[in-house]
Amino acid sequence: MIRMSNIHKYFGKLHVLKGVSLEVNKGEIISIIGPSGSGKSTLLRCMNQLEKIDQGIVEIEGIVVEAAGDKEGKVVATPQEVRTAYRKMGMVFQSFNLFPHMTALGNVIEAPMLVNKAAKDDALKIAEKQLAKVGLLEKKDAYPSKLSGGQKQRVAIARALAMNPDIMLFDEPTSALDPELIGEVLSVIKNLAQEHMTMLIVTHEMGFAKEISDRVIFMDDGKILEDSNPIDFFDSPRHPRIKTFLEKML
Ligand code: ATP
Ligand code: MG
Repeated sequence: MIRMSNIHKYFGKLHVLKGVSLEVNKGEIISIIGPSGSGKSTLLRCMNQLEKIDQGIVEIEGIVVEAAGDKEGKVVATPQEVRTAYRKMGMVFQSFNLFPHMTALGNVIEAPMLVNKAAKDDALKIAEKQLAKVGLLEKKDAYPSKLSGGQKQRVAIARALAMNPDIMLFDEPTSALDPELIGEVLSVIKNLAQEHMTMLIVTHEMGFAKEISDRVIFMDDGKILEDSNPIDFFDSPRHPRIKTFLEKML
C-alpha cells in the first residue's frame, strides 16, 4: 500500500537518508530499530510529508504522491488525491503533541471536524468510541496537564484513530514514558495489531518488537541494513553491526 523507492534526504550538507527503499503491505506490522541518528524519524517524516524528500518516489495505493530529483514531474495524482491519501495516515510522536488548551475529547474531535468536516455530533461519537478503545472514556473531560504520560499518549493514539487511518506511524511512542507507564501504551498498540491495523513502529522496546512485528527493519547511517522476519532478526542476526546493537540493548 506504500512504496518508497530510492529515497534521499539531506539536511543542508548532512545526507540523512541514502537511498532507502521500502514497501509496506496492507495489514503488516513493521518495527524500525537502529541507533540514534540513523534516520528512523526522518524516514517516517518523509513517508507522511512532514519532510520533503530530495530524491526518490513515494507511492500510496499505487498513486505517486511525491517524486523528487530526476523523477520530478512524475507525480500523476491531483493535489486533492494527494491530500486524501495522506489523510489515511495517522502518526503518533514520542512527545504526544496534544493541544494543551483542549480536553481529551476536544483533542480527538478536532481533526474529524476540521479536516473531514464531520458534524459535531458525529465527531463526538467517533471520539468517544476511540477514547473508549484506549480505555480513557472516563477521562474525556480532562485537560492534558491532568493526565499521566501514558494517558496522554493513549489520547494521542485515539486522536490519530479518529481519522479512520489505513496506516499508523509510531515514532518511539513510549520513549518519553516512565517505565511503569510503557505497558499500557504498548497494550493499546497490541490491540491494534490484533485488528490487523497496518503499522510502522520506531521503537527501542525489543521484546515488544519481537512479539508484535511481521517484519523488523534495522537502519544504520541512513540506510536499511536489514529487513527480515523477527525470529531471524533477533535470534540469528547476520550483520555484526546488528549483533552489537542488540547486545547493547539487552
Ligand atoms: P533517534 O533514535 O535519536 O530518534 P533517528 O534515527 O530518529 O534518531 P533522525 O531524527 O531521523 O534519527 O535524524 C537523522 C539525522 O538527521 C541526525 O543526524 C539528526 O541530527 C539529523 N536531523 C534530523 N532532523 C533534522 C533537522 N530538522 N534539521 C537538521 N538535521 C536534522
Ligand atoms: Mg527519532
